[in-house]
Amino acid sequence: MPSADSARDIGYGQSILVVEDEPAIRDVLVLYLERAGFSVDSVGDGRLALDAIRRKAPAAIILDVGLPGIDGTEVCRALRAEGNWTPILFCTARDDEVDRVLGLERGGDDYITKPFSPREVVARVRVALRHSQVSSASDVLRAQEISLDRTARRVFVQDTEIDLTATEFDLLAHLMAHPGRVVSRDQLLVDVWGYASAVSTRTVDVHVAQLRHKLQDASPIRTVRGVGYSVDRESR
Ligand code: CA
Repeated sequence: MPSADSARDIGYGQSILVVEDEPAIRDVLVLYLERAGFSVDSVGDGRLALDAIRRKAPAAIILDVGLPGIDGTEVCRALRAEGNWTPILFCTARDDEVDRVLGLERGGDDYITKPFSPREVVARVRVALRHSQVSSASDVLRAQEISLDRTARRVFVQDTEIDLTATEFDLLAHLMAHPGRVVSRDQLLVDVWGYASAVSTRTVDVHVAQLRHKLQDASPIRTVRGVGYSVDRESR
């Protein structure tokens, strides 16, 4: 029986749905995922993807954005509207597709740009699965003493609730949803404030300072000088 804390075993035997309309890419993804021990289904368009997800409830979905019929972002929207929060790894081919993916309420989702190495896709799927296991059904993210409930939009340091503004909450949730990743100020502006916002990167620094003030020693946010901010991955 695979041990739960071995990174190699994460996702072993779990079902993954690959949604990709280019047969060559689809086949290589299926091959690598099966070699990594996943149970893999694949489909070539968005409508079949929605059917398969509703019937088989995969543990994670690899979702091409550019699909015939219903595209990847629409598949994601349809699932989220049903309350289905299966982790999604988006595959994008063009910059405008990245823009559309970033415009979604992404939660713990991730994206990868083509051309990608199948090996990296497997690694990212494992990260997505681990994230969804940690956050569980109640959608709670944890970092050190902090727990953040994305559904109820509440934050606790140990048992004490911390009162955050909507923006502070979104900023903390975004960093905690991507542990181990350094997120630039520009990227935070896009992901948290949205493209239309006229605020500057200085605004990000101000909100991080406010968060640190409220969270005091419990703040998990690390400054990566000259780059941006990060919440470290929990050591296991
Ligand atoms: Ca495609």
